[in-house]
Amino acid sequence: MRKPLLLAAEGLNKSFAGFHAIRNLNFYMEEGELRTVIGPNGAGKSTFLDLITGRTRPDSGTLFWKDETDLTRLNEYQIFRAGIGRKFQTPTVYIDHTVFENLLLSLEGARGVWANLFHRPTKTQIDRIHEILGLIQLSAKADTKAGALAHGQKQWLEIGMLLAQNAKLLLVDEPAAGLTDEETHRTGELLLSLAGRHSIIVIEHDMVFVRQISLGRKVTVLHQGSVLCEGSADEVQNDERVIEVYLGRKHVRPVN
Ligand code: ADP
Ligand code: MG
Repeated sequence: MRKPLLLAAEGLNKSFAGFHAIRNLNFYMEEGELRTVIGPNGAGKSTFLDLITGRTRPDSGTLFWKDETDLTRLNEYQIFRAGIGRKFQTPTVYIDHTVFENLLLSLEGARGVWANLFHRPTKTQIDRIHEILGLIQLSAKADTKAGALAHGQKQWLEIGMLLAQNAKLLLVDEPAAGLTDEETHRTGELLLSLAGRHSIIVIEHDMVFVRQISLGRKVTVLHQGSVLCEGSADEVQNDERVIEVYLGRKHVRPVN
């Protein structure tokens, strides 16, 4: 039986001053999927995430969430409340607060961001934060100021903050950018450990990382604002059209 669709984008279009960044885009995703989206620079990947989160309004098209709500009719805050969380390429953590506090500030149902710091957290909140700290492997850093974390640890904290928000769909834009190979691999393991219980869209260039997280899963290739093809990492890397659009961009060209 087909699982319910979590997200269905149909006929999405977005132009910026005449430049057609998203072009009749159709994209479907099931609940619990970990979907990787690749594509050359300028393909429209980040713009697609902007459309999902309501940061950018489409010119036309629909973006159905769970077959019931058209996200294009909601504002950014309503989309956030619906359970869609975004992680930008550069970590946006509160550097002067501890790792624990960062997670506390992000907890769903927070009384208001700063109020949370002035109330004693409840046992439920503390337990949830420790659970997340374990998942993101930062238990030992709970009392460390976020600003003192390594770049990779900041990325994991930010993923943890999406979990604290109780995001159902995590949008993760280039999580491996600037990370060491070891940090990249651990980021992949973290995302794999979340798949199933969470739905995740990962945008990435690093094909070693893409292969790690997409084994047995679907990869979507975006090109000029449309889906060029979808399939396993092997299938898309061997697709003539994909090789063609990556030609001349050796640094991001898929390799076997
Ligand atoms: P990707 O993330 O795949 O590299 P983007 O979605 O960032 O691509 O960009 C797609 C195209 O849309 C690029 O040519 C970019 O310059 C353009 N674009 C994106 N956002 C804006 C904006 N706010 N204003 C003007 N052009 C934009
Ligand atoms: Mg981008």
